[in-house]
Amino acid sequence: MEDTLDSKALEAAADCLLRARYVIALTGAGLSVESGIPPFRGPGGLWTKYGEPPMDGYQRFLRDPRKAWEERLNPSGPMRELWATLRAAEPNPGHRALVELEEMGLLKATITQNVDNLHRAAGSIRLLEIHGNATLIRCIQCVTRFARDEIDYGELPPHCPRCGGILKSDTVSFGEPIPADVLEHCSEEAERADCVLVAGTSATVYPAAQFPLSVQGRGGDLIEINPYETEITHLCRHTLRGTSAEILPRLVNVLRERR
Ligand SMILES: [Zn+2]
Repeated sequence: MEDTLDSKALEAAADCLLRARYVIALTGAGLSVESGIPPFRGPGGLWTKYGEPPMDGYQRFLRDPRKAWEERLNPSGPMRELWATLRAAEPNPGHRALVELEEMGLLKATITQNVDNLHRAAGSIRLLEIHGNATLIRCIQCVTRFARDEIDYGELPPHCPRCGGILKSDTVSFGEPIPADVLEHCSEEAERADCVLVAGTSATVYPAAQFPLSVQGRGGDLIEINPYETEITHLCRHTLRGTSAEILPRLVNVLRERR
């Protein structure tokens, strides 16, 4: 890992962003880690520590939604640790820099694989949470989303105030299809984009990984911000080695000087 990022690389990435017609961002776990949220896999990962969760989480939910809700409301093991960390986490300078890019009119949309609500908390407006949002509850029938405290948990599973369908955490479980509304919006944004800022993600988890690949395949530019080399590094026009919390604010500063 190189720790000296020369200003030329930043300038070149800034030029690339200014030349683009439509820039979107794809973010992932790296950004959350910088807010103190442990990753799932790898060193210090929750699943590394507690073991991989069952890969059929959604099917288990459908088989016994009451039990799933009892576990959700009274979590143990990794989930207990995760919920406690999520409640305490706050946005970092990387999240805030993306909001600034949006306010400058340079960033049109952010697709995130993170469920921690930190992009929203930072102030991102055009945000697509492809794996859901852990602070929201979603009806598996009509796909309406509710804030946690809007729901009556007197009887489990809770039911949708709108259509009576079963409610579930908005977080997309293993084995659960990405909700069609989000997936469609992501695809639309990727189709419009000619530049993707790929921050804090190795972009290997589908379907999120397909968006930068499709933009690049159409001749668009990828700008990668990551402390480590990833499987898409060789496809990126610009690679800025470092954390999002460090690099993104520096990129914003360069862009401010240019305008
Ligand atoms: Zn409903």
